Amino acid sequence: MTLQSIDARTGAAHGDAWPESTFDEIDATVAAAAAAHDVFAATPADRRARLLRAIADGIEADRAILVPLADRETALGLPRLEGELDRTTFQLRAFAALLEAGDADTFLDEAPVAGAPPAGRRRMTRVRAPLGPVAMFAASNFPFAFSVAGGDTASALAAGCPVVVKAHPAHPDLSRQVAAICARAVAGQGLPAGVFQFVQGASIEVGVHLTQAPAIAAVAFTGSFKGGTALAKIAGERPRPIPFYGELGSINPLVVLPAAAEQDGEALAQTLAGSICLGAGQFCTSPGVIVVFDDAAGDAFVQALSVRLATLEPHAMLTGGIRGAFDRGVAAWRSHARLRVLVDDASQASGAAVPPRPFLAQVSARDFIADHRLHEEVFGAAALVVRVDSHARAADVLEAVGGTLTVTLWGVPAGTEAPDADTLSLVRTAIRVAGRVLFSGVPTGVAVTAAQHHGGPFPASTAPFTTSVGHAALERFQRPLALQDAPAWLLARRGAAV
Ligand code: NAP
Repeated sequence: MTLQSIDARTGAAHGDAWPESTFDEIDATVAAAAAAHDVFAATPADRRARLLRAIADGIEADRAILVPLADRETALGLPRLEGELDRTTFQLRAFAALLEAGDADTFLDEAPVAGAPPAGRRRMTRVRAPLGPVAMFAASNFPFAFSVAGGDTASALAAGCPVVVKAHPAHPDLSRQVAAICARAVAGQGLPAGVFQFVQGASIEVGVHLTQAPAIAAVAFTGSFKGGTALAKIAGERPRPIPFYGELGSINPLVVLPAAAEQDGEALAQTLAGSICLGAGQFCTSPGVIVVFDDAAGDAFVQALSVRLATLEPHAMLTGGIRGAFDRGVAAWRSHARLRVLVDDASQASGAAVPPRPFLAQVSARDFIADHRLHEEVFGAAALVVRVDSHARAADVLEAVGGTLTVTLWGVPAGTEAPDADTLSLVRTAIRVAGRVLFSGVPTGVAVTAAQHHGGPFPASTAPFTTSVGHAALERFQRPLALQDAPAWLLARRGAAV
């Protein structure tokens, strides 16, 4: 099959099509990655840091080419893409800084203790060793930050693992250009070409073949529930199963407690409408379920949200396939007997390049909880308002959603005094189901920091103990290793860099 760059605003093909990677080509990239593993794993941290900085510099140097190209292939708009490029280079440099500071190594050295176990012991040293070649699946909706040189690539390279990127066919031309920058940076640092490899697929077979390649040691995936769970199964069914780090879609419940609706309802409704429509709703952290109390302040909040949302005009979606899925999701909600439509433009034209209109509907907590289809992500500018009569009912809604990347709770007291028992219980439920709990602001926008956690219980992530954003993302690609009475030369190399 062939790849083709498509103008997301017009649907028109741009330039010539080119063939997807063959199985032989994929096997050759994996073989090169495997051959590069020992050399790369043994590179000192500051050399890996230089590689990451060189990739960041290369991306910045080509900014004037890359950003308009990304805009053509995604329709995400120049300001957003400029910001996303900045975030991507920030991420690369953050991992470089981590390596330079020595913070990427676990090195726990225990002196020997004379005597028999359990009190006595030999010298024990705990280190972390790079896993080996990582297959990295790029996402459609972040053409820079979750794509070829995005967080997964940056953290895997920082960990000392060669990377084979499976680019996303929604921005194939941009992917080629960024891959060329990465490959140049690898060559510029005098490292083997196998440290960074790149394959492209127009069919799912390319990703399946890559995941099954025996020398691949881990998979990092960002994308849909369907794609992620299919590939996780394949990774788990290999003769030698491997870790699969899948960051999947999420519906990100946001609870508006009465105090918030009463004090600041109008402004919060405006903020929320903006978050629902941000990037045409194409964010894994887009708020998809808004839990509002059944009282006068709640009614006013829902009214204000509906009015704001109806005025917003999202831009065209990423691809015809994603637009089609959004239309099908909205059509199912539109025809659902238990939903009351609040914001809709049923007359809107469909079609890949036609900007979508926002959609909002309301449902009772009972009907929401009873129908699991309403717990599935509709990827785009669409949300459900779920009305509840108590904190306990709001907690039931969160339980029904199950795993989610985020839960936002508006109106929890911010002071040092613990809140009432009902609120406390709601906070407990939020902590149980989410990877990140917000007490203000909106879930769209994920800071790249040491404290960040971007993951969450299944189905938000297939690996809830790990994060794909923030410094801890690196730990996914290193395996803990205990060395007993290790020779001095090995300890001098901090244990793993041999
Ligand atoms: P996608 O359709 O799942 O695509 C992601 C990658 O998976 C692509 O390379 C795709 O390759 C591959 N793929 C999909 N199904 C496959 C299968 N059955 N077998 C093998 N490979 C398969 O997702 P997307 O359209 O890029 O992104 C939208 C979704 O990602 C949304 O649900 C969004 O919420 C989620 N997302 C999550 C995060 C997060 O951090 N949690 C971040 C961004 C987006 P082909 O296209 O070549 O088939």
